[in-house]
Amino acid sequence: MKPKVAFFDFTGCEGCQLQKLNCENELLDILQHVEIVNFREATSVRRDDYDIAFVEGSISTPKDVNRIQEIRKNAKILVTLGACASTGGLNKLKNFQPLNEVREYVYGDKAGYFDTLPVMAVDEVVRVDYKIHGCPMDKKDFMNILKALVMGSKPYTPDFPVCVECKRKGNVCRYELGEICLGPITRAGCDARCPSNNVGCTGCRGLAENPNVKEATEVMEKYGLKRDDILRRYRLFYGYWQEVTR
Ligand code: SF4
Ligand code: SF4
Ligand code: SF4
Repeated sequence: MKPKVAFFDFTGCEGCQLQKLNCENELLDILQHVEIVNFREATSVRRDDYDIAFVEGSISTPKDVNRIQEIRKNAKILVTLGACASTGGLNKLKNFQPLNEVREYVYGDKAGYFDTLPVMAVDEVVRVDYKIHGCPMDKKDFMNILKALVMGSKPYTPDFPVCVECKRKGNVCRYELGEICLGPITRAGCDARCPSNNVGCTGCRGLAENPNVKEATEVMEKYGLKRDDILRRYRLFYGYWQEVTR
């Protein structure tokens, strides 16, 4: 029997879902091996008897909390898609401002009608089995994880920093060119896409395992960045700043 697969979206730009729909060359193959029973962007079918749930977006309202708990109850395996779902991503910028002010920016005098919560990654609310990182997530990562799950094997997610992939590619380090790059503390898996295209990493895959944030901060200071600039960079995708303010 084909595994039944569902896709759900929470707070995000839906860019990760579009990445899936961009798998044009693989979509027919995918459909031979799985049955899609819920996918708002691609089908009107809505069933709750899924085995694998793929979830895009962060949790940011009380309604989201109930919904993700219900999805977790139904799914045997839950996989997050992209930075918003896996780490909170850009959405966590909201958490650095008072919640009421944020609501007023967006909804003006109607703010009182909209419930909101500090932004949470999905695994801050329910158990997550696997994460696909990146903003947006990479089609290749999605295909790899789907293939592994269909074959009943454990998907692989790199836990080392982007610098490893960057060095393997023989890139000149952005620091040597007087630029800043978050590669030393960011999770690899993108094949060092940004430094390989002459741009410093901004951290879209979130922190690597056991990142040496203190050392990375000192390097950035050595290269002329002020503490506030460093915090802004850490906040963009990590939702993360405690380490450098200790
Ligand atoms: S991770 Fe990026 S591309 Fe994906 S939903 Fe969030 S903002 Fe959009
Ligand atoms: S460019 Fe960035 S990712 Fe590449 S080696 Fe330098 S710090 Fe690491
Ligand atoms: S280099 Fe950094 S910002 Fe660029 S895709 Fe990779 S993790 Fe994301």
